Amino acid sequence: MAITTVAAVSAVVAGCSAEPAGQDARSEGTLEPTSAPTAGARQDGPPGVLPRKGEVGRIAAGAGLPPVISSIPTRRKVVFLTIDDGWEQDPGFVAKVRSQRIPITTFAMRDAVEATGTPDTSGGAGRYVGAGKWGYFRTLRDAGVAIENHTLSHPNLRTMGFDAQKREICRASALIRKEIGARPTLFRPPFGNYNTDTLRAAKSCGIEAVLLWTATVQPGGKIAYQVPDKRLRPGDILLLHFRPNLARDFQILVDKIKRRGYELGNLEAYLTAARVRQAG
Ligand SMILES: [Zn+2]
Repeated sequence: MAITTVAAVSAVVAGCSAEPAGQDARSEGTLEPTSAPTAGARQDGPPGVLPRKGEVGRIAAGAGLPPVISSIPTRRKVVFLTIDDGWEQDPGFVAKVRSQRIPITTFAMRDAVEATGTPDTSGGAGRYVGAGKWGYFRTLRDAGVAIENHTLSHPNLRTMGFDAQKREICRASALIRKEIGARPTLFRPPFGNYNTDTLRAAKSCGIEAVLLWTATVQPGGKIAYQVPDKRLRPGDILLLHFRPNLARDFQILVDKIKRRGYELGNLEAYLTAARVRQAG
């Protein structure tokens, strides 16, 4: 886990977590579309809450390289859902995301999506491993999900030279562009491991930001925090995986987030507001 790399960017977001998390202050409600009454979030617009004017702090990039981001600088009680790899391709999960208009960003990894590597079985035996290949991600795209870059084969990039890193990142972006129709602007390094060559390589193929995370979500919907006080904070980025039982675990997680008084945000819109990503 990339504790040190997360610490390296914490200065960027320092001072933006003053608001208490309001643990379980709200009663358990029914699950409503997360975008419901928020200004700018039309039913046919992007899913999730959108940033208010002046809400989001600017994320600075150093030395002309893409910034490395593990949370979004805001005081609003909003968190962001990201899902990695792509082994388990349950159509029921897409239906849930579409019908509830849940904002998620995926980081797709070729060997998982195409089921050509060794599947991640940490969530149990899969029923839908590689079931739809890239077609599954096209259905997610059509449900409003951003499909971003998580390499071809999930290597530890820190052990590789620049050229090899560039192949892993740039060929994955080219593949996603071919299969999905849009070139990724975000990159998540496997295991959160990266170095300066990673940032240079990512930039060379159009990546605008490197996305880490604040907490991971385990099978059963349990949140494993990287901060000692173990609670959600405004702007947190949560990491899940395409694992068996994702649809069930996801519902547990979304209910938990709402009970704690948090909304689900549209990550792309927030990154645009933080001026790390071009609009559109
Ligand atoms: Zn991964």
